Amino acid sequence: MMHDAHFHTDEYAFLDFLAQQLIQGIVNASSPQEYLRLSAWLKQLKGIRISAGIHPWDSDRVSWEEMRVILEQVQIIGEIGLDNVWCEVDPLKQYEIFERQLAYASKHHKPVILHLKGMEKEALPLLRKYQNKYFVHWYSCDAYLDEYIALDCYFSIGPSVYKDRAVQQVAKSVPLDRLLLESDGISALSWCENRHVQMSEYLALMKRSVAYIEALKGHMNMETQLNQNLMHFISYAENT
Ligand SMILES: [Zn+2]
Repeated sequence: MMHDAHFHTDEYAFLDFLAQQLIQGIVNASSPQEYLRLSAWLKQLKGIRISAGIHPWDSDRVSWEEMRVILEQVQIIGEIGLDNVWCEVDPLKQYEIFERQLAYASKHHKPVILHLKGMEKEALPLLRKYQNKYFVHWYSCDAYLDEYIALDCYFSIGPSVYKDRAVQQVAKSVPLDRLLLESDGISALSWCENRHVQMSEYLALMKRSVAYIEALKGHMNMETQLNQNLMHFISYAENT
C-alpha cells in the first residue's frame, strides 16, 4: 500500500484508480465548486480525504465568504500559502486571505497544508502567531528549512526528489516520522517529467520517489514508515 498525501485531480477515473489500489491520500479542493464535485465522487470511494482552502494563486478569485462555508465541512485546511514566483496575485491580497485561513484553522483546531514559493521567510511569523499542526507540501527552498523543522511540521516529498537538490535536502534533514509522500497530481507529474504522464505510470513514479527517500535516509521499509506518518497526521486531524 502506498499513499499520496497531497494531490489534485479533475478526473473521477484517477480517484477510482487510487481506491482500487487501496491508496490512501488527501485530495485538494481550491474552490467551492471543486469541493462539491470531489465530495460527490468520493461518496462511493474509500481512503481519500479532502482538504480545502483558497490557494494563493486564487486569492483574488475565490472569496473568503464563499470558501468559509466549505472550510466548515473539512477537517484539513489547504493548500494555502504565499507565492511570489509562480503567481502575480498582489502579495497584500495573498497575505489577507492566507492570514484569515490560518486564523480560522488555528481557532477550529484544523491542521493546515502549506504552499510556499519564494515567500518561505515571510510565512514563518504568521505560522508562529497561529499555533497549529502544519504540513508543508513539496518544500523546495534551500533556506529556512531548520525553522520549519523547529515548528514540528510534516513535509511531503514531491516527485522531483530524484533531480532536485533542495527537495533531497528536505528528505535528508526532516525527522523520519515527519516525512510524507505526494504526487501533487498527474499534471504535476507531467510538469516534473516535462512530458505527458499517463495514469498507468503513476505507481512506478511514486515508487521511484520512495526508493530515493529510502536511499537518502538510509532506512528500509520507507513505504510503511511514510504510511504510518500519514495515518498519524490524519488521526490528528480527525480527533481534534
Ligand atoms: Zn498542490
